[in-house]
This record gives sequence, structure tokens and C-alpha cells, in this order.
Amino acid sequence: MKNKEKTKSLKNYIYMLKFISKHTPFMVFGYLFFDVLSNLPWTLSNVVLLRYIIDVATEGKDYYRVAVALGLFVAFVIITNLCTTLFYEVSLPKQKEKLYFAIYKTIYEKAAKMDYEAYDNPEYYNDLVLAMNSMNERAYAVLSNTQDILTNIIGVVTIGAVILTIDPICLVFVAVCVSIMVPIGRLIAKVNVERTEAMTPLDRKNLYFSRVFYLQDYAKELRLSGAGKMIETRYNKNISDRLKTIAPYLTKQWKLYFCQECLPMTLLIYLGITLLMGYKAIVTKEVGLGDFAATFNGASSISNSVFAITSQFAISMRENGLYVEKFRRFMNAKEKMISGKKTTIYENPVTIKFDNVSFKYPGTDKYVLKNVNFEISPYKKIALVGYNGAGKTTLTNLLLRLYDVTEGAITINGVNIKEWDINAYHRNFAAVFQDFSLFGATLGENVSMDDSHEKEKVEEALNAADFHRELPDGTDSILLREFDDDGVSLSGGEAQKIAIARAFYKDCPFAVLDEPSANLDPVAEYALNQSMAKAADRKTVIFISHRLSTTVMADEIYMLENGEIIEHGSHDELMALDGKYAYMFRLQAEKYV
Ligand code: ADP
Repeated sequence: MKNKEKTKSLKNYIYMLKFISKHTPFMVFGYLFFDVLSNLPWTLSNVVLLRYIIDVATEGKDYYRVAVALGLFVAFVIITNLCTTLFYEVSLPKQKEKLYFAIYKTIYEKAAKMDYEAYDNPEYYNDLVLAMNSMNERAYAVLSNTQDILTNIIGVVTIGAVILTIDPICLVFVAVCVSIMVPIGRLIAKVNVERTEAMTPLDRKNLYFSRVFYLQDYAKELRLSGAGKMIETRYNKNISDRLKTIAPYLTKQWKLYFCQECLPMTLLIYLGITLLMGYKAIVTKEVGLGDFAATFNGASSISNSVFAITSQFAISMRENGLYVEKFRRFMNAKEKMISGKKTTIYENPVTIKFDNVSFKYPGTDKYVLKNVNFEISPYKKIALVGYNGAGKTTLTNLLLRLYDVTEGAITINGVNIKEWDINAYHRNFAAVFQDFSLFGATLGENVSMDDSHEKEKVEEALNAADFHRELPDGTDSILLREFDDDGVSLSGGEAQKIAIARAFYKDCPFAVLDEPSANLDPVAEYALNQSMAKAADRKTVIFISHRLSTTVMADEIYMLENGEIIEHGSHDELMALDGKYAYMFRLQAEKYV
């Protein structure tokens, strides 16, 4: 790894370790301390105990000494084992739950707070998906990688100190061995990065294939069309591309691993140290057999540790570091939308005004709304109509302050909506989106959008939205199957009625409905029109509709084309104008004749 990358990985590790310590302090301490504690006896027994036993045996000392040393060693092992198993089996699972909770809570809170427009930014979106999918796993990986590095460093230092007291020349062998292994380790890491980079586009394709097979969105098409075969052909091609891509890297890595691990270890440690220390133990008798065994074991153990630290651990450190880097970028992403100070939540509708509003989506050059001017008086029912892509949804997105206008201003009761605190501003609106979502919660909660609800008010709202299905536990029935195997499944129309009921339930002056009748049959659509008329007694309602039969009851209709208002008036006025609205209306009416 280059120095800059190393520092970056280190910083990312420190960030993650701090994050974990903040939420589960005992986990970091336990992970590091207990690993060292459980490994230490074995590291020491390989060198110190072995040396002691051989020395006692060769010097003809009392066997009782060996028994005492072994007894102490076993006692030490039992105690450390008791502590470590207690930590790993009892404490760690609980700590992991806590960490999982903390990581996802942090991600959910950040995602919910971010500007809506951030979802249009592929970098932010990728970071969010990555954080959701893998941060939990990566947090443990960082921890266990740190644990491995620390344990190995402690091993190198302790064994190095023992060897130093026996024969410092052995450390020279180790140093030479390591100085060969480290640069090769770097080359291995480099090849590994190149391999990951080469495989990334192919990994992305693999993820796409998984999505196609696990998401319900694709299930119907796969069953009813020949899409399965088409996807399989591409899948097979991707597999052979993966094999072709990876092959040269594997050969390179194999050669490097062989040069790194086998040659220096065999020649310098196994052969070199055996010859040197064997000569000193057998021929010149400068050292005992215990020293010979200890240096041999110790030197190979140090070399192995250094090898692990510089190659395997360095590779995982870089990889984990990259994930943490993306998590950090996600957590540090700044909201662009500035929240104002105004917190007014109106009890009754007031005037809404679009003042010369123009808008381009972030990162695009095309104006999707141009110089839009109009005023909505309190309590009016306003219909927005026009062909696909005319700008209707964009207009409501601006009113709901999911995006900020590029030019001009939207005012409510004469005040620019940018002056509002965003959360307070949103409380003035009930919104039903085209792509509304129901949640795995009770019917009542799905209408109130809160963890408590007023039963009667929910029932009233459901009635107003023409939802009359009797559910087993009434408004306490759980929807969807995620939280309850007996959760209620709903048809598209029923689901939409529940979403519409939200708008009736919420005490607020304005309702924005995007295609409220898209999934409804003509009877339900008629009922909805009646309810909307009733709701308009208390609210201003702005709705987008392609079904022009719904727009007949609107007080005012705005017809948009290419981001501009081209016609405006009541249904009768627009029919009399005989323009594009009249043309569209007649075309649709013909279909129902
Ligand atoms: P409508 O609701 O009338 O069908 P929209 O408001 O959804 O139209 O879209 C208006 C234009 O804005 C279209 O050209 C559409 O492609 C574009 N558009 C919509 N959403 C985005 C977005 N998130 N980023 C970029 N362009 C968008």
C-alpha cells in the first residue's frame, strides 16, 4: 500500500473503532484484550515452555520442576479460557446486537434526514446501499482485523525479546526473511487491488442477476415471458467473463505467494536457523537444545506473523477501509436544503402562490418548469393535467419542498416557503404519492402514520377514502406479512384507498394527491371524487390526474405542457376554449362510450 493509502486506511480504522467504542465500549476492549489473552499461552508455550522442558530434560534436573511449570501453564490456560469463553459466548453476542442496532439506527436517521434530491445522486445512493448492506459485517471485520494485527504484533515483540536473549543473530535471519517478504507482500496487495477493480463491473452485474431473481417486481415477467432464458444467457456470459478476468491475477498471485512464503521461510528460517543453532547446540555446545528448539519455533512464528501483518491483514485492512470510507462519506454528506426558522402550521388553508417558478433537476441542464405563475386560493380543488413528462409531479415536488426552486419563489400566505423549518413546513401537508408505500404496521398506524391512532378518526378517514373491507382485528389488523404471518394482503386499489385515507386523517390545511385514482375502478373513483369534494370543505386540495373524469369537479384546472401552463380555467371554461384540454377530455370520454 502507498503511504497515503495506508494513512487513509488507518484513519478509517480509527473512525470505525471510535464509532464502535462510542456505542459498545466493552466490545472493543473485550475483543482486543481477550484475543491477546487466549493466544498468549500458546505463543509462550511454543517457545518459553518448550525451551524450559528441554533444558530440564537435557540438564538432568528434577522432573518435579517440569510438573510445576506445566501445572502453572495449565492453570493459566484454564483461567484465560474461562474468561475468554465467557466473553465470546455470553457478552459478545449481546454487544453485537447493540452494535447492529447502533449502526442501523445511525444509517436510518441519516438517510431520513438527507435531502430528497440526494437520491438522484448516484454516489450518495450507492453509499447508502453499501452502508445498508454491509456496514454491520464490516464493523466486525475492522474489529477482528485490528485484533489479528495487535495479537501478531504482541507475539512478534514477546518472542523477539526471548530470541534476543538466546542469540541475536537469529533475529538477523528473521530481519532478512521479513525484508524479502514485506515488498512481495506489497506486490500481492497491489495485484489484489487490481483484481478487485477488474472484477467490480462484473460483481455489479452479478448483483443485478440476484435482484432479478429475488425481487417480486420481476417475478411475473420471469414466469410469463422468455425473460428467464434471456437473463440466463447473460448470466452464463458473465460467469465466463469472470473466470477469464480473474485468471491472470490468480497466476500472478500464486507466483508471488510462493516467492514470499516458501522461499525465504524455507531457506532462511527452516534451513538457515536450523543449521546455525544446530551447529551451536551440537558442535560448539554454545547453546542448549532448549534454546535451539525455542529459536527455531520462535523465528518461524515471527516470520509468519510479519507475513500475515504485511500481506493478508494489509489486504483486508485496505478493503475494509474502503467500505468505512464510503460509510464516512455517507455520514458526512451535507444537506443542501437550508431549513428556515418559521414553524407556523396553519389550521385553515391560506393562499399558495407560484411566482415565476423555473426548475432544473440537480445535475441536469434542462428546465422542466419554466416561468410558472399561478395562485391557489384557500379551499380550492386544483387539478393538474397534461401528458407524461409535462412537469406535474415536479410542480408538486416543489410545493412539498422536496426540491428547491431554481428561479422564482413559492409563497404561502405571502411568505417564501424557504423560510420554514422543513419539518414544520411538511406538517402543513398531507400527500399521497403515485408510488405510495404501505408499511408493515397496523391499518390504524398506516392511516395515522404514527405509533398511536384515534380509532374513530381512522374509520372516518377510511370511509371517506371508500375503504370498506372488514379486517379481522379492525384498525388493529397488521398489514403485510413482514411482522405477522397472518398479515393482511391488499389489492392495489385497497392499498391506494388506505394511502388516500392518510390525507383525510391528517389535520392540515393542504392535501397533495398524485394520481389518487390510478388503481381505482370507476365506482371507487366516483366515490373518491365525492369524498374529495367533502374534504375540500376543510382543505385546499391539489391533485394530479390523468383520468379527466376526476377533473370535472375541480374548481380550477391547470394544463401543463413542456413545463409551462398552457391552459387554465374550470372544466366548462376549458371545454369552451376547445383547446388541448378539451381534445384530451373528448379522447378519453370516447373510450368509455
Ligand atoms: P409528469 O408528472 O407531468 O409526468 P414529471 O414532473 O414527472 O412529469 O417530469 C417532468 C420532467 O422532469 C420529465 O422530463 C422527467 O424526465 C424529468 N424528471 C423527473 N424526475 C427527474 C429527476 N429526478 N431527475 C431528472 N429529471 C427528472
